[in-house]
Amino acid sequence: MTQRTSVHSEEFTDWLASLRAWAAKSPDQNTAWREAAAQGLLSLAVSETAGGAYVGYEGACLALEALAEESGLSGLPFSMAAQMWACQEPILEFGDPAQHDRYLKPLLAGTAVGAFAATEYDSGSDLLSLSTRADQDRDGRWRLNGAKTFVTNGPTADVFLILARTAEGSALSGLSAFLVPRQTPGLRLGRVIDKSGLAGAELGSLTLDDCTVSYANRLGSTGGGFAVLMHAMRYERAFILAPTLGLMARALRQAFNHVRARSQFGRPLSSYDTVRQRLVRMHLSLTSARELLHATARQADARSLDHHRSSLTKLHVSTEFNRFCQELPDVYGGYALLPETGAMALVADAVASRYYSGTSDMQTKIIAEGLGL
Ligand SMILES: Cc1cc2nc3c(=O)[nH]c(=O)nc-3n(C[C@H](O)[C@H](O)[C@H](O)COP(=O)(O)OP(=O)(O)OC[C@H]3O[C@@H](n4cnc5c(N)ncnc54)[C@H](O)[C@@H]3O)c2cc1C
Repeated sequence: MTQRTSVHSEEFTDWLASLRAWAAKSPDQNTAWREAAAQGLLSLAVSETAGGAYVGYEGACLALEALAEESGLSGLPFSMAAQMWACQEPILEFGDPAQHDRYLKPLLAGTAVGAFAATEYDSGSDLLSLSTRADQDRDGRWRLNGAKTFVTNGPTADVFLILARTAEGSALSGLSAFLVPRQTPGLRLGRVIDKSGLAGAELGSLTLDDCTVSYANRLGSTGGGFAVLMHAMRYERAFILAPTLGLMARALRQAFNHVRARSQFGRPLSSYDTVRQRLVRMHLSLTSARELLHATARQADARSLDHHRSSLTKLHVSTEFNRFCQELPDVYGGYALLPETGAMALVADAVASRYYSGTSDMQTKIIAEGLGL
C-alpha cells in the first residue's frame, strides 16, 4: 500500500485476507515477526512520509486482531503491539528525521525490534517516582545509571526507549527519554523473566551502568520525558488489547464447535440453556470490547484520541476479556485443564491484561479524575 488507504477499500480488504491466510498456516514463532513486518503489519499506523503505509489505527488493530485469531499466537501480536504503540509511536511523534531513519525505519521493516523501558522494581504504578538517572557530561553526552524491569521485548530488542530522571523536582519537567541501542557499553540485559501467560512474548530486565549515549539519542526535549510517556500510554492503553479480540473470537469459535460436538445425557451441550446463555455472554463480551476498541481507533484516525478515552478502552476491553475467560473453562468442564483447549492459557493472558500499561485500578483512577470525581 503506497498511499492512505481506507480500511474499507478493496486494497486493504485483500491485504487483510492474505495476512489471515498466511497467519492460518501456523507461522514459525522465530520467523513470524519478520514475515509479518515484511507484509507491512508494523507500519499500518505510520504516515508515508515516515516510511509507513498510512492505513491508520483501525487498520492496524484489524491486522493485529487477524494475526492473533488465525495463528492462535498470543505473545507474538502482543510483543508487536507493544513495539508499535510504546516505541514506534513516540519515535514517530518526537523523533527528528535522523532518528526516524536510524531507529523507526528498521522497526517498521522488522529488521530491528524495539522496547519501551519505564518500569522499575520500586516504581510500578508509581512510575513517576522512577530513579534511573541521566546526567549530561560536558561534551553533551548523556550517562545513564539505573535498572529497568518488565520490559516487553527486552531480551531481543535492538533499541530501548528508556525513561530517566534528568532533574530533581516535578516529574512533569524532570524526566527525559532516550533511545539506547542494545550494543551501547554499560547496558546489560538481565535474564528472561519467567512468567505465566502471553506465551512467546519475552519480558526482561536491564541495568544501566554509566551507559553513555550521544546528545542525538535523546528523544524529544530535555525534561520532555513526561510528554513522551503520556504519548506512548495514550496509544498503548487504547490498542494494546487489539490482538485479544482475535484470541477471543478464536476461542469462541472453538467453544461453539465443542458444545455442538459433545453430548451429555443424550443431547448436545448446545441444547442446554445454561450452556447457551454462557456462550451468549461470551459473545456479548467480545462484541462490546470490539465495538469500543474500534470506535477508539476511529477517534485516533480522526486525531481526537485523549487519555480518558484510552484508559476507558483499556479498562473495558480487559474487563470484558476477564469476564469472557471466567466463562471459558466452564464450556469444557474438566477438559479445560488440557492444553489443547487453550482455555487456561487464555485465562493467564486475561489476568495479565489487568496489569500491563497501567493496572485496572490506575485506569479507574484516571477515568474518575477525568469525570471530575
Ligand atoms: C505482561 C507485562 C508486560 C509489561 N511490559 C512493560 C514494558 O514493556 N515496559 C514497561 O516499562 N513496563 C512494562 N510492564 C510493567 C507494568 O506497566 C506494571 O506491571 C504496572 O504498571 C503495574 O506495576 P506493578 O506491577 O509494579 O504493580 P504495583 O504498582 O506494585 O501494584 C500492585 C497492586 O496495587 C495496586 N495499587 C498500586 N498503587 C495503588 C493506588 N495508589 N491505589 C490503588 N491501588 C493501587 C495496583 O493496582 C495493583 O493491583 C509490563 C507488565 C506486564 C505484566
